[in-house]
Amino acid sequence: MSRCGDVSLCVLAFLLNLPLALGSEGYFWHVTDNHIDTLYESQQESCNDVFSTEELGIFGMPSCDCPLIFQKSFVGAMESLGPAPEFIVWTGDMSPHVKNESAFKPESVVVASIENVTNLIKEAFPSTKVFPALGNNDCYPKDQLQPHNSTLYTAVGEVWRNWIGEAALQTFHKGGYYSGTIREGENILILNTNLWMVKNGLTRNLNDPASQFKWLEDELERIKTAGEITHIAAHIALGNNEDSANSDLTKKFSDRFNDIVVKYSDIIIGQYYGHTHADTVRMINNKSGDKIVGSAFISPATCGTSWYGGNPTLRMVRYETTDVKLTDIWQYYMNLTKANADPENAEWELEYKFTEAYGVNDISTASLTKVVDSFKETNSPYFAKFIRYRRGMSTSKYNEQSCDYECKKGILCGIEHIWENRFKQCHENVQSNGHVTKVNFYGFIHVCFSIYMLLH
Ligand SMILES: [Zn+2]
Repeated sequence: MSRCGDVSLCVLAFLLNLPLALGSEGYFWHVTDNHIDTLYESQQESCNDVFSTEELGIFGMPSCDCPLIFQKSFVGAMESLGPAPEFIVWTGDMSPHVKNESAFKPESVVVASIENVTNLIKEAFPSTKVFPALGNNDCYPKDQLQPHNSTLYTAVGEVWRNWIGEAALQTFHKGGYYSGTIREGENILILNTNLWMVKNGLTRNLNDPASQFKWLEDELERIKTAGEITHIAAHIALGNNEDSANSDLTKKFSDRFNDIVVKYSDIIIGQYYGHTHADTVRMINNKSGDKIVGSAFISPATCGTSWYGGNPTLRMVRYETTDVKLTDIWQYYMNLTKANADPENAEWELEYKFTEAYGVNDISTASLTKVVDSFKETNSPYFAKFIRYRRGMSTSKYNEQSCDYECKKGILCGIEHIWENRFKQCHENVQSNGHVTKVNFYGFIHVCFSIYMLLH
């Protein structure tokens, strides 16, 4: 781990607002949804639009997944943008989205995609601990992660054997989940939340797919009893999808996951997820909804542009390694249009530093609560920033003008309600309030018209 030994470099880093490892501070990268498409130039299978060969940008297009050269670029950026990381957490969806899965993404392509990027990271960070998780696109057919041993878990387990270790392979083979150790007393639990996904037809009739709940509770109890702490990471976050009024996780699984996370919230110091390709957070409230007991971070996609639009992004998190707590985020992005226009000088730019962007001292649950509360103000400048940052400074889905009353309230329902009942109730309230607003507006016009008729 490189600490700040050179004083002049330290001063320069301070002046340029770069991450700087001092004393008990450590950094880790959160990579997610990098969606490598090795057939990008020849097939455009991952693209939502059709492009001529001349139009295809070298690093990718806003409506396609990203080629190998992009994957090399993001790994290079991780090497150059910050101090050596304590660890890397990689929350899945390494494989591309394709239109014709049987032709272009059988299991062999999934495994090859994972292996491709794994090798790049291994080469750049040969001695760094890396904790990868599987995404819902990392299997064939997509979303159908198996609740028992499978050829996929065996093959991917071999690719990741040196990272996750022999002991972890036992549960990885069983259901794609495992536990790791960052340092003595600091654990990380990598879950396969794809087993709890609504779209996973292999698990919906089961009570505890691959016994992951039982394992998770046992692990958290072991950690608590030992007086230790843990991080949790997975592809699909707890809670609901804030881009729609629906949930990605099956309710019975979602409720049970929430119960466990709430019960052990005092030993969970950070949670990291991907999947929605949006830069956002989850406030974790207890079942009765009267207390916030924790929070979770969802990172936007490293390159998952084909379904949502958006620029590629990368996240570095700072935390205190002795009194373990998360303190800040450096969020980077690549302006794809700019990078494709001048590939020689393509760069990863700082999008924001969390504490400065949102005016808080750290990224604790208390600070996030303050930030989310500020979103509720009319014309909130922090909410405007949040919308701008949602997909790496891209306005392809929302922008500050288009995210109106219903859009903002809908997003807040997702941020503030991890329990499906409350989330759906929140959405119903938004719609009925929106309806009332419209009815009142039309009522107002009707009254004006009546008065006009009376006066004339
Ligand atoms: Zn994805």
